[in-house]
Amino acid sequence: MTPTVIATPGPLVERSVRLLQELCSISSASGDTEGLYRMTEILCRELTSLGMLSEVHAESGINGSAKPVLVARSPSVSARHTLLLGHLDTVLPAVPPKLDEGRLVGTGALDMKGGFAALVGALQLLRERGEGPPDDFLLVAVPDEEIGGPVSVGAVRHWGELAHTVLVLEPGAVGEGCETLVTARRGLTVWRLDARGRAAHSGVAYWEGRSALAAAAAWAGSVQQMSEPGNGPVVNVGRIVGGDSEFVSDVGEEHRFIGTTERLNIVADRCLVEGEVRYLDLADRDRILQGMRSLAAEIGDAWDVGVSFKEVEHILPVTVSPSGKALADHLVSAAEHAGWKLELEDNRGGVSFPNFLPDPSAASVIDGLGPVGGGMHTREEHVVLESLSRRIGLIAEALLYIRNNN
Ligand SMILES: [Zn+2]
Repeated sequence: MTPTVIATPGPLVERSVRLLQELCSISSASGDTEGLYRMTEILCRELTSLGMLSEVHAESGINGSAKPVLVARSPSVSARHTLLLGHLDTVLPAVPPKLDEGRLVGTGALDMKGGFAALVGALQLLRERGEGPPDDFLLVAVPDEEIGGPVSVGAVRHWGELAHTVLVLEPGAVGEGCETLVTARRGLTVWRLDARGRAAHSGVAYWEGRSALAAAAAWAGSVQQMSEPGNGPVVNVGRIVGGDSEFVSDVGEEHRFIGTTERLNIVADRCLVEGEVRYLDLADRDRILQGMRSLAAEIGDAWDVGVSFKEVEHILPVTVSPSGKALADHLVSAAEHAGWKLELEDNRGGVSFPNFLPDPSAASVIDGLGPVGGGMHTREEHVVLESLSRRIGLIAEALLYIRNNN
């Protein structure tokens, strides 16, 4: 399919910039219920004027307080969805936005109010051209992504169940002479090692002691080194707490011993190690975790220390499906057609919305559709207006492609 709508007319870009300024003027930090509702009002106004059916659900967030989820859809009823995802919340409360040499500097401008402005612009662009989004268009905007909140995760699980395609309005990145989209993301496994040895006075009964701390530290050094460069899995030892067992089991209270000479004469009989493995591929995950488990058993035997290794939590990786790859390749050629360079990131490390889909490999997933910029989560946060214009065309192109290919 030849790309068609990628050029965005100037007046439409100006209108999108004004919308982005309006969105950035609203303070919608994660806990700010009033600001979050205000965000949904403005987005409802825009989407309704473009023929969408919009509603706001109150969902119970952290601490049980009600937070808004915006759901906007095409009027036609469909069994499956083209699901668009975004978040209403920001990390910082807002300060007034300003235009500055081709950039809009504002709270959440990049992450990710720019993505909403680009989407509304894309729907306007399609309308101006006598086209429309897919009949199964469904936008879900959540209130607590920046705090890893339960509403975001629950909404992605719920609405993702029936999605054949998932488009995420988080910002793309700036590469060398290009902008990016994200097609694959690493999953992660949180793990915990608990080692228990035998306490003894290090002066008078040293050889009767069994140091859980030394055994766990030896293990920790080795598992970090199991990391593989490039697309391979990586192991991160995030935390290690060792000492006598009273110290380890009540470190909040007992941390007062740190920096003193007290209890250094005890062979350290307890050690906890916690961390993550991040991977693109489930076979890599299983291989690395098996290696960590066997090494724990080996080191436990060698040091005569009891060692338990547990997988605490798994978050699935997002892999590129054949239909997702076809859509992504189409967007790369659409950008080229419009005179700018788009590259695909297939090894992004951070977890995002699509990692929480019931089966991230079952849908076509494109993440990072929002405009690029810099200074995320700081007072210098900004969006590049040229990128906003590009992304309006890019999102319109994606919606048109999905409409014509499903
Ligand atoms: Zn974000």
